[in-house]
Amino acid sequence: MDKIHQVLLNVFGFEKFRGVQETIVQHIVQGGDALVLMPTGAGKSICYQIPSLVRSGVGVVVSPLIALMQNQVDALKQLGVRAAFLNSSLDFDTAQHVTRQLLAGELDLIYVAPERLLNTNFLSLLDRLNSMSKIALFAIDEAHCVSQWGHDFRPEYRQLTVLRERYPKVPRVALTATADAPTRAEIIERLSLESAQQFVSSFDRPNIRYRVLQKDRIKDQLETFLEAEHPQDSGIIYCLSRRSVDETAQWLKDRGWDAMPYHAGLSSQVRDFNQGRFLREEGVIMVATVAFGMGIDKPNVRFVAHLDLPKSMEGYYQETGRAGRDGLPANAWMAYGFGDVVSLRQMVDSGEASEERKRVERQKLNALLGYCESITCRHQSILRYFGEDHPGGCGHCDNCLEPVSTWLATREVQKALSCVYRTGQRFGVTHLIDVLLGKETNKVKEFQHDRVSTFGIGKELSQGQWNSVYRQLVAAGYLNADIALYGGLQLVDDMALPILRGEKEIWLRRDAGKTKSQIAKGASPKKSNHEVASSTEEKLFIALKAQRTELAREQGVPPYVIFHDSTLLEMMKQTPTTLAQFERLSGVGQAKLEKYGQQFIQVIKSSLDDSE
Ligand code: ADP
Ligand code: MG
Ligand code: ZN
Repeated sequence: MDKIHQVLLNVFGFEKFRGVQETIVQHIVQGGDALVLMPTGAGKSICYQIPSLVRSGVGVVVSPLIALMQNQVDALKQLGVRAAFLNSSLDFDTAQHVTRQLLAGELDLIYVAPERLLNTNFLSLLDRLNSMSKIALFAIDEAHCVSQWGHDFRPEYRQLTVLRERYPKVPRVALTATADAPTRAEIIERLSLESAQQFVSSFDRPNIRYRVLQKDRIKDQLETFLEAEHPQDSGIIYCLSRRSVDETAQWLKDRGWDAMPYHAGLSSQVRDFNQGRFLREEGVIMVATVAFGMGIDKPNVRFVAHLDLPKSMEGYYQETGRAGRDGLPANAWMAYGFGDVVSLRQMVDSGEASEERKRVERQKLNALLGYCESITCRHQSILRYFGEDHPGGCGHCDNCLEPVSTWLATREVQKALSCVYRTGQRFGVTHLIDVLLGKETNKVKEFQHDRVSTFGIGKELSQGQWNSVYRQLVAAGYLNADIALYGGLQLVDDMALPILRGEKEIWLRRDAGKTKSQIAKGASPKKSNHEVASSTEEKLFIALKAQRTELAREQGVPPYVIFHDSTLLEMMKQTPTTLAQFERLSGVGQAKLEKYGQQFIQVIKSSLDDSE
């Protein structure tokens, strides 16, 4: 076996590299520069960690967030790797100690914040290491922080060109999960990586099951989903406003769920406390605005639920991408309704941004709405947006499981549009539907809309069906929700007129009714993270988790740093009772075998005894 496979197996406990990992590792081991673009959870860390262990000297990793460094270093120490970090969270003595270790060649990996790396003292330290050829490589993690257009912009990242100027012989690798073309170009330019080899893997997240539902009593829908599929799992629930975060978190807590709020309006103590609980404990639900998430690399987030729409496909991909980093099945669940379409459109229109910027934001929002209404495989739609092909359907997203039917809606759409026109293009959807259904509400009478020609002409559809028609018309841009009119609908002439004139047909999607969504529910796994086969297995899994929690508490690290869920699942299935068997589990390297093997084997043995 060659050196890199040995390290993969003995240190990390993995038998095989994933995808392009092996090529990247070899390339860097041989001294090449690299730009690595892979989605979240694909396994970017190993791409620089193994070369750091194999090459002589220390691997220097630039990382933007303190919490991220801490996690990575905790995890590496568990594997028996000599790792440490330097950032502003350390007191003077500890920082001194780390510096001494570094100079003495006692570290395999050092994680530093960009500002620390650029500090003259640190650079002269690097000079000394370099003069002894003791820098294995530079890794620039989360390299998209160099982009001033992204929301994670870190100005210090732009000064990292110093690495190339000062240490031209040391290989550099930049890594990111943000891969759109402009960002990629910016990374290459700003980090002087023109001659680096690029490694791009598919951005598909095959283990994520995407689902978009029509909003209809959202709290009930959410709770049904949680009860059926995630009764004990960790997950993130995204809401648009701070108020709805607080409200939803409180509501879930009142209903007995372990939920906590997170948004920029909370004090930093509360935020840190809640984030800490989410990372360190099992089964905690974080209800949050988009302020939460960057740098959260908890691997066993089993679901991400959106109660409100994100602003773009990029946002959706990033937020849902926080689920299932460990590769086990995870859910991306989103509820969406007419109100979301209107309020997001209005948010864009009423913002302070320039016209040019608004135009871009509108396009982004339209792409997202198109995704919501799309009838093809969700994986396909997402990848197509990012310019990638996805052959065939995934087989497990909502649209694959339950193909959406469409109906020829030209006549109904004509009625819906002309009702907007006849009532003067300033009323909201509820009123328009009242008119179509011929309801004599006070408002209808007040405006004498019982006299317009569209009064009562729409009795063939229900209130809900009309709602679906209007939602799709707004989403697809036939109607505009005017901000000055509090959501009153107006025709977008060049889209709507051809339909009204009968020059164009229009097909709409048929929203799933109650019975159909029941089918979807039945088809999804009861508990996504463990395929519970028997109660004996379930008991064993619980016992293994308890053992893991205890060990994690003792050491003050998150449980997944001890073993990932996937490794516990293997223990449950294979029930190893000797160290030799235990060693074969994926995720068990030498260090963990020695540290924890016996204890987990004990748990397995006593569970086997019990079941006899
Ligand atoms: P990224 O930085 O790309 O989001 P990570 O480096 O954090 O991803 O890795 C995600 C998960 O995949 C980690 O739990 C890691 O242990 C696991 N992993 C990485 N490479 C392999 C492999 N070759 N075999 C099995 N698991 C792997
Ligand atoms: Mg990473
Ligand atoms: Zn699909």
